[in-house]
Amino acid sequence: MADASARLTPSRLAPDGLGPTVVIGEILVEIMAVEPGFGFLEPLHLVGPYPSGAPAIFIDQCARIGGRAAIVACVGDDDFGRINIRRLRKDGVDVSAIAVSPCLPTGSAFVRYRGDGTRDFVYNIATSAAAEIGPTEASLALFARAGHLHVMGTAFAIPGVWELIQQAMETIRARGGSVSFDPNLRKELLGQGQTHQRFQALVDSADLLLPSGGELSVAAGVDGEAEAVAALFARGVGEIALKRGGRGSTVFAADGTRIDCPAFAVAEVDPTGAGDCFGGAYVALRRLGLAPAEALTYANAAGARNVAVRGPMEGAGSRAELEAFIAATDRVA
Ligand code: ATP
Ligand code: MG
Repeated sequence: MADASARLTPSRLAPDGLGPTVVIGEILVEIMAVEPGFGFLEPLHLVGPYPSGAPAIFIDQCARIGGRAAIVACVGDDDFGRINIRRLRKDGVDVSAIAVSPCLPTGSAFVRYRGDGTRDFVYNIATSAAAEIGPTEASLALFARAGHLHVMGTAFAIPGVWELIQQAMETIRARGGSVSFDPNLRKELLGQGQTHQRFQALVDSADLLLPSGGELSVAAGVDGEAEAVAALFARGVGEIALKRGGRGSTVFAADGTRIDCPAFAVAEVDPTGAGDCFGGAYVALRRLGLAPAEALTYANAAGARNVAVRGPMEGAGSRAELEAFIAATDRVA
């Protein structure tokens, strides 16, 4: 294990010193139904607003664990926007490229869990400030000092974000930066057209891919875990961190090395944000020079700690908090 880690240690990810990890995408508030059940067709007790949006959760965990971090996003001139900006700033995220829309409200997601863990949503993203993400002076200045771009599949749903991602990728690559991709995109959204092509282009250029479960095969276009991993490395992917929910995770390297990490044993209170916290921790720590096995342990802890707390990013942990969590928590056998 030690040898394998040592071989892998110099990842293709640009070091933290080159500049912050940048993510582009939706900032939302989440408002949750207290009682589990189906939908929102009667008056309910609700709790929230909680700061949310997959890119916001990712970048918050990235900063909390000690990585340099920044987000390009758009919120409304309202408290839902302010609660997000305050949280991200407090946790160390560079918020200079969060635009404030003068007329549209901050995006929102109402969520209600059913008894079986599935969820019902009422979203307002497409007609919220999140849909106004676009190039600004602040975002272009940020790309010019960034060291890494993290792309999330959810961003494909927002018009104009693809163009911005391309611009960011060009600028950041030109200064020696790297790219990671979390393909958290529903299969039905992928289709066969332009979205499919863009998705494939991102897979091809990823220094690090962070799929969850079946997304591995969707990204590879090949069934079977080993086959999918081989196909992705043949296409030039640098490193793969595969998330397995309550069963932990695995890192695969192009040289054939495989590192498995069992999950931490926690009572799942709120699964939202596990994958984003996992990604934020893993990307930050790899960029800070940690070996894959070590970064993976922290990333598993970040995911597990977050599912044990209600609220999408309420369980994101600092490095010290995650170390305490690792020391105190059993692994799933
Ligand atoms: P999301 O469900 O937020 O979309 P994801 O599907 O991308 O996330 P998961 O695999 O669900 O990602 O979670 C990421 C990591 O968090 C897992 O690899 C695991 O380490 C940890 N994790 C998630 N759920 C649990 C759980 N119930 N118990 C322990 N650890 C968990
Ligand atoms: Mg999951």
